[in-house]
Amino acid sequence: MLLLVDLDGVVYRGLVPVPGMAELLNERYAAGDTVVYVTNNSRWHRDEYQARLSGMGMPVRADRIVTAARATALVLTEGGACPITLVFGGPGLARELRDVGIRTVAPTDHGLAAEPAAVAVGIDLGLTYRRLSIAADAVRRGARFVATNRDPVYPAADGLWAGAGAMVAALATAAGREPDVVVGKPEPRLFQAAAASVGADVASAVVIGDGLLTDIAAANRVGARSVLMLTGVTSRAAAESAPPALHPTAIAADADELGRILDSMGAGSA
Ligand SMILES: [Mg+2]
Repeated sequence: MLLLVDLDGVVYRGLVPVPGMAELLNERYAAGDTVVYVTNNSRWHRDEYQARLSGMGMPVRADRIVTAARATALVLTEGGACPITLVFGGPGLARELRDVGIRTVAPTDHGLAAEPAAVAVGIDLGLTYRRLSIAADAVRRGARFVATNRDPVYPAADGLWAGAGAMVAALATAAGREPDVVVGKPEPRLFQAAAASVGADVASAVVIGDGLLTDIAAANRVGARSVLMLTGVTSRAAAESAPPALHPTAIAADADELGRILDSMGAGSA
């Protein structure tokens, strides 16, 4: 089976691994499952996740980590395109775009002069009025407006920071139009790109996530099965009172219960 595994709240909480997940994912990997990690986070390059995940004992390769930044790179290069892209975001996003051959420019007068055909927006810890104004100028001049995600907040070690969605909203307001594409959950593109990266049909995947409005909503939109983990941001009561579009296929309290659910799903689809 293809497992699309969310990170925060599923395999770790902050810097602390979720108990039993490394053992379970190693078992699934050894038994032949394909494990792809997916996250809306656009701040880091895959290499940084690979180091963190392998340090926690998770089965991982760099090509099995699809962040919203990586998926944005894949979306921008669909059909063989390779647009000069103005990056209104951090260095991890820019590096992911350059990895697929895209020429990136910064939101500066010099970057704008390169006539970017796309503007990629992610969490921008160097956000300034000037960067926002130049990104809006590029969108008004016709650049494709591609948002990594619309998360309103970013969970950091010391509390909630403004998320990429706050930058997207500011840019949409300043440019006078909404994004052409939003890549991250709950939109379908992140999961579609993750499945395509291993040559699989996204509808065959099992999404393992802790967010109803993100992981489970996106799973339902792409027709994938899903397991809601109660190890993160969602309670059982919230899951059980959610509307049908947010219903997971199954709910797991911990890694042990997830293992039993995946066993039954594998037996059902074999
Ligand atoms: Mg999560």
